[in-house]
Amino acid sequence: MPACMPAEDQAVVKALPGNSKCADCGSNANLTWCSVSFGILLCMECSGRHRGLGVHISFVRSLNLDSFSEKQVQTMKAGGNDECNNYLLSHGSIATDTPASDKYNNPVAELYKLRLKARVEGTPEPTELPSRSKSNDDKLFSSQKPVRGTLDLTNTTPSPNIVSACVSAYNYTIWPLAPIMIDQLSHKHQIMSLFGLASMVGAATIALTTRPATTLSKVTERLCGVVTGSLILVGPALMGRDFQRRRLAAFSPAVDDFTQRCLAGRSKRNLGYEVFFPPNVSIGDTVDHVIVFYPGMLVDHLAYAAVLGKLSDQGILVLLVSAEPTRMANQVATLDHLKRLRHEITTLMGITAKEWIIGGHCLGGMAAAGLMQQRKFPTDISRLVQWAVPGEPCNLRKSNSVQAALRISASKDEIVKPLEINDAHIRSKFPPTCILQIERIVGGNHAGFGHYGPQNFPWKDGERQGINLEQQQTKVVQWTARFIKSLKSKDD
Ligand SMILES: [Zn+2]
Repeated sequence: MPACMPAEDQAVVKALPGNSKCADCGSNANLTWCSVSFGILLCMECSGRHRGLGVHISFVRSLNLDSFSEKQVQTMKAGGNDECNNYLLSHGSIATDTPASDKYNNPVAELYKLRLKARVEGTPEPTELPSRSKSNDDKLFSSQKPVRGTLDLTNTTPSPNIVSACVSAYNYTIWPLAPIMIDQLSHKHQIMSLFGLASMVGAATIALTTRPATTLSKVTERLCGVVTGSLILVGPALMGRDFQRRRLAAFSPAVDDFTQRCLAGRSKRNLGYEVFFPPNVSIGDTVDHVIVFYPGMLVDHLAYAAVLGKLSDQGILVLLVSAEPTRMANQVATLDHLKRLRHEITTLMGITAKEWIIGGHCLGGMAAAGLMQQRKFPTDISRLVQWAVPGEPCNLRKSNSVQAALRISASKDEIVKPLEINDAHIRSKFPPTCILQIERIVGGNHAGFGHYGPQNFPWKDGERQGINLEQQQTKVVQWTARFIKSLKSKDD
């Protein structure tokens, strides 16, 4: 890995108009930092503020400590502090004392980044942002808050309060039933929630009706109503309490691994997800594959940091979705969320990806499958990766989206085992045309797909036998990387 920006390139950059002082505060001390996104030089203090904006808004590098790709050097040479500041001042209502959070997180700044990128690539500089269809998108993107500024890696995410835990539990109990109950409506969470609500209202009405129940059928009807109503209300309430209590932390080696990757520039924390860059890939580059990975249920998503980091070592860009604070992946696996991720990676970070894939562990893998069954699911995503996913509630039989899937299970996995019958059964849950690869880790268990455990919810996981955690994860990474990269030859 090259040590830093070469001295002759640094000399060119430093000679650009305005580059003798910090682009934000005007200080001329410690001018060894830059934002590659805007092609500007910064002092150490202001570079810290830029880091706080998140990598999708401003990508900060140290001229002396970080490596630079050829394209990043070109970007720094094509930019300049005066160039950027003059543009922002003349095209927006940005005053010289505007805080970085406002100065760089707005449509004018976004357009400047695209213009700078075009200048480097020798394409025409755009005069407006790429049009986004409909106001729904505007709402989605304008609501983006600046990302978590510093590396806050403690597992201190507060538990959800009891109300939101119960709402999660309610959604959870209704949600997995959907594909079984009404195949065609499986993607309509809201309809299912309404159905639940209607059942409750119906049950309450029947139970509270003042007319005496005289006939047997009336009594039965009322009894059924009371039982249904109680189940619908009490079940999620009990489960909600579990959701608060049974949250699992990530083992510290996984968190440490993530910290090291962040310090080495290989990982970044964004709002709602972590990015794992393949070696020598950074913003503005091209990758063959991106996988969006949804974490397991009630598990700190950083439990998957080490194993997904290894997957990124194999040349795959990995986005690890955070489901905090509820830790219910099905709540974040939505089309809007996926759209935001793709926008941030492709437009804001300028990364070109040849293929997008989704996947996950346990509930996360089910959530990914649920997402694929939605009617407006992007047609360019056709491959699915599932680690330790229960077979029964994951019925993709009628989905047109899944063209190829990888299913890895483990023989000592007692969490999904009761629902996972055999290869033929799994195969029956996928469309006949789907290229399905089924792998089984002999001796592996459910929690062994990440760094957490032991898992005792919803029941007790099995223990690994004749295989250690590292061996299990090595297999998981190997199979997943091989599956993901298997499409490459077709493209080249
Ligand atoms: Zn400064």
